[in-house]
Amino acid sequence: MKKTVNIAIDGPAGAGKSTVARRVAAALGYLYVDTGALYRTVGLNALRLGLAPGNPDEVVPTLKDLQVSLRFIDGEQRVFLDEEDVSEAIRQNEVSMAASAVSAIPEVRAFLFDLQRNIAANNDCLMDGRDIGTVVLPDAQIKIFLTASAEARADRRFKELTEKGQVVEYEALLREIRERDYNDSHRAIAPLKQADDAVLVDTTELGLEEVVATILAIVKERLA
Ligand code: C5P
Repeated sequence: MKKTVNIAIDGPAGAGKSTVARRVAAALGYLYVDTGALYRTVGLNALRLGLAPGNPDEVVPTLKDLQVSLRFIDGEQRVFLDEEDVSEAIRQNEVSMAASAVSAIPEVRAFLFDLQRNIAANNDCLMDGRDIGTVVLPDAQIKIFLTASAEARADRRFKELTEKGQVVEYEALLREIRERDYNDSHRAIAPLKQADDAVLVDTTELGLEEVVATILAIVKERLA
């Protein structure tokens, strides 16, 4: 089987990963895979069941009956909880914290691991998340670590959610981003950290077009 090209983009919440990754993937004709959607779906399921998302004793037993899958419709990722398309439901702000909480549970990470690996083995893809370059695809040909200051990220999240009509407070978003950063980078399993062979791209002072161009240049150079 032909070896696929895999690009890993990791970084903290709100660094612009999904917008940038979608654009870069489109320019290359690769599949864009947003792995945060998987953790969000497990988090959403826990919330719906009235469970504490951070409590393994409550969450782990739900995994055996849980079906999480990704489908690509015209190249666009949709995430399913059983047969329900939850792609929009997982974007609610409260699901972000639930996703961060369930993602610290080793059994949840193991549960989602094969799904991610299989997609990467069968498709040229650009996968974004927290542990793609370090754990899920350690052999990815290209690894990018995308970051920005917490303030710049809260600012972008504020604009994004406000544009969608959600009522949010900037200070609360900044607090949540800091809390998620802390959780994501201090958890015992697969913490958020830059892979040794990842290229750091700091987007605090860069516009979207500049970030996309920077990453495309890195990809071109690596694949030449
Ligand atoms: O990327 P997004 O903000 O949608 O991810 C939601 C949460 O899922 C993150 O805060 C993180 O805790 C978790 N996550 C993870 N590993 C990934 C992707 C997301 O732990 N590969």
